[in-house]
Amino acid sequence: MRLTNYFLPVLKESPSDAEIISHQLMMRAGMISQSSSGIYSWLPLGLRVLKKIESIVREEQDFAGVNEILMPTIQPAELWKESGRYEDYGKEMLRINDRQDREMLYGPTNEEQVTDIFRRSIKSYKELPQLLYHIQWKFRDELRPRFGVMRGREFLMKDAYSFDLDKQQSEISYNKFFVCYLKTFQRLELKAIPMAAETGPIGGDLSHEFIIISKTGESDIYFDSKLLEQENELLNIDYSKDLSILVNSYKELYAVSDEKFNQDDFDKNVSKESQTKSKGIEVGHIFSFGTKYSEAMKAKVLNSDGKQSTVFMGSYGIGISRLVGAIIESSNDEKGIVWPKSVAPYDIGLINLKYKDNKISSISEDIYQKLSESGFEVLYDDKNDNPGVKFSRMDLIGIPHQVIVGNKALSDSIIEVKDRKSGDLTEVKIENLTSFFKK
Ligand code: ATP
Ligand code: MG
Repeated sequence: MRLTNYFLPVLKESPSDAEIISHQLMMRAGMISQSSSGIYSWLPLGLRVLKKIESIVREEQDFAGVNEILMPTIQPAELWKESGRYEDYGKEMLRINDRQDREMLYGPTNEEQVTDIFRRSIKSYKELPQLLYHIQWKFRDELRPRFGVMRGREFLMKDAYSFDLDKQQSEISYNKFFVCYLKTFQRLELKAIPMAAETGPIGGDLSHEFIIISKTGESDIYFDSKLLEQENELLNIDYSKDLSILVNSYKELYAVSDEKFNQDDFDKNVSKESQTKSKGIEVGHIFSFGTKYSEAMKAKVLNSDGKQSTVFMGSYGIGISRLVGAIIESSNDEKGIVWPKSVAPYDIGLINLKYKDNKISSISEDIYQKLSESGFEVLYDDKNDNPGVKFSRMDLIGIPHQVIVGNKALSDSIIEVKDRKSGDLTEVKIENLTSFFKK
């Protein structure tokens, strides 16, 4: 992509209502444009990152054997009346009446909708388990939308749902998602810690929030620092195997957010030197809730004795749009965003320092063509701006590698490659550039 042809409305100053660094940088880097409180348009640069995160999340759901579907954003109120949540959800739910005056709503989540899909077609235990997910916009009329896309009103979520015959089977599904989340966040280059969360009246230990440490996070978290050292090779994980040992290696280390915190438990389970208190951002939540919705909505299958049996369910969310902000919170410096390679909007930012020089421009053009043909995603700064403007803009938008073409390209066939994260500069012969990036 050429910058002369790109919609990248960078700002010199961050807007005064942007309180945290990720919101400031997203606005300054022209990633989003506010529509109304907690509602944003995604501009080209922001949309690319959103899509990259979305595809990693999708790939890992698919790899774990979860089926992608797409449910509507607008749902009928009847389903929510069946589950009893139509009243409970209160003002956070956006309620709409259609022209026939039927009650509709903009979905804040999809348990009811997916349970309805399930009960219409699945009638036998032989067809279980069923694992379904979708990636769809949600609306929650949050009391305090803030921090840009981190607590929006309209936001993009991956939500998955599991249907199993009994509690034991549903734990197998739960573990699958647990591991799938570890792997997803690992690919996003984030350290997300699974923390025991409130399970409500159902009880048990089958609810975890995945939280990344960040001083701007909204949750207080308390955990055993040994969790930070947990590293597992998950690339070729086999989801058909028993995953409980892996899951238990996390569960047995103390980690809770404030609502579950208890000082006595903390002291009993974690040595003083490993006790860690911090703030964190919730990026995912997995929850096994048994028959809460299936009971109310009569989602049953025939079991092996030929009797009707209410299915056990779980739901599993990842905040895709929140992740864009969360990743910036954990990866930035005084110059701007520092994208992890896995989600960077482009691989390489190419800077032509001498746009008025025909020879240097033609060298830059050539480099742009070659790198693009080799499969790299390149953002080419072909604008007629001074070097200072070009450098600070490229640093701000955080592309992992910069290729800087100046006078030396002409005299010695050499360009500079800058690593955005370390700031290290390397001189590379132009003819070796493609192989330099391939290694
Ligand atoms: P929170 O405690 O932050 O309000 P929640 O418990 O209401 O979140 P869930 O219902 O578990 O959230 O939703 C699953 C995921 O969706 C969350 O882990 C989070 O990443 C994301 N999410 C929830 N609410 C928002 C929001 N208002 N804006 C952006 N992302 C959100
Ligand atoms: Mg939650």
